[in-house]
Amino acid sequence: MKLSQKEKKTIKEKILATLKELEVQIIQLEQDTQPISPENSLGRVSRMDAINNKGVSEAALRGRKDKLNKLKIALTKVGDEKFGICDRCGNTIALPRLMYMPESDFCVHCAR
Ligand SMILES: [Zn+2]
Repeated sequence: MKLSQKEKKTIKEKILATLKELEVQIIQLEQDTQPISPENSLGRVSRMDAINNKGVSEAALRGRKDKLNKLKIALTKVGDEKFGICDRCGNTIALPRLMYMPESDFCVHCAR
């Protein structure tokens, strides 16, 4: 069973909305991952906190950018006949899964 045009449209809108959110988050995270100047007025402990937080932000930033790229690819594929069809077993990928992870090529069973 293939996805209906309406379902594809819903997924496409979801992708576009998520892309917007990600872009905002990426801008914020890029500010949070600016180099920490060594001569700043933070104490030693605060400085270590700042460095730890920066590490967390950098990991988050990488994750967001990765997701952004995957979603951009998904957006180009959403109109394809094969979109939403599992690459391995050929079954339709469940709509909630596509809504959550539009970039997924496999159904929930094959992805395990
Ligand atoms: Zn499958």
